[in-house]
Amino acid sequence: MKKLVLVFLLCIATSIAFAQQKPRIIILATGGTIAGEGKSSDRAGYTAGKIPVSDLIGSIPSVNAIADISGEQISSVGSQDMSLEIWKKLAIRINEIFSKNEADGIVITHGTDTQEETAYFLDLVLPHELPVVITGSMRPATAISADGPKNLFDAITVAANPKSKGRGVLVSFNESIYDSRDVTKTSTTKVNAFRSPDSGPLGEVYDGRVEYYKSSVRESAKEGPFGINKNTKLPKVEIVYMYADASPAYIDYLVKQKVDGIVIAGVGNGNFSKAFTEAIKKATKANIAVCRASRCLEGRVVLDGETNDNELGTVVSDNLNPQKARILLMLGLTKSKNKKELQDFFFRF
Ligand code: GLU
Repeated sequence: MKKLVLVFLLCIATSIAFAQQKPRIIILATGGTIAGEGKSSDRAGYTAGKIPVSDLIGSIPSVNAIADISGEQISSVGSQDMSLEIWKKLAIRINEIFSKNEADGIVITHGTDTQEETAYFLDLVLPHELPVVITGSMRPATAISADGPKNLFDAITVAANPKSKGRGVLVSFNESIYDSRDVTKTSTTKVNAFRSPDSGPLGEVYDGRVEYYKSSVRESAKEGPFGINKNTKLPKVEIVYMYADASPAYIDYLVKQKVDGIVIAGVGNGNFSKAFTEAIKKATKANIAVCRASRCLEGRVVLDGETNDNELGTVVSDNLNPQKARILLMLGLTKSKNKKELQDFFFRF
């Protein structure tokens, strides 16, 4: 009899130990459509960032079987209102969570409009091995077939999986897992809103399983020089869009404003008009860092291609799109104003 009781107690102790072994995942909510509320389930109109993180977690009770979940509200904005301040708040909180061993993984819920920018920024400044996964949704929580609960469940599954360690910040969306450097939003409204145009997704999450098929070869924040604390001041870098007969007036304006950097969303291989060239010469003479990116969805901008970077004093973004080139240029400028070093960042990260 005593033996039976002992075995029984042992079983209970083992199951408690196993229950405690569930990974601890903290959800940092920032707003977006995933927390969006509409007046009716069959109309497109809604307000982003209305539903609190506790309700988002409550919508997927079965997730408690795979992880110990808790949530924190970092902001409640549509991601068109994402800001450097919120990025800093996120980065500082994530550093604190991992340094105090509060979680084994983090999921960030975020609007999709600027999700790729937040993902890449955090990827460049967070040096941790533990997974940080960003997700969101295209349909508000109140819509028919809302995609938020599934995307959140999948993102938690990805963050809780040991295979996700050491991969930097990931974007989990519509059953695909993307590298934050390569991913971009490619649809205004469809639920398969994201793609990595040059390299494809890293893996998939489906039916509670995570599979990776490749890894990013770029340097991670662990090797990188960038970091964030509450005193970090990010330089001012703006983007100028090139198109047929575009006016260079905005470049002239930015030179007058004494910005620290300008990214040109050039045509094709990062090209621009003679009028732009003249304005950019003035910018580089004024010691403003100018980076050539492309408005094309795919491909890289080649150094000294049709445009002579050496003569003009410009750097190229490699295959970073303009909005991500801006982030790397901002962080790069916190370390150096030297053109060679800035160019080197674009080939390493
Ligand atoms: N503007 C919204 C946002 O980025 C809509 C995009 C979304 O979340 O799907 O927050």
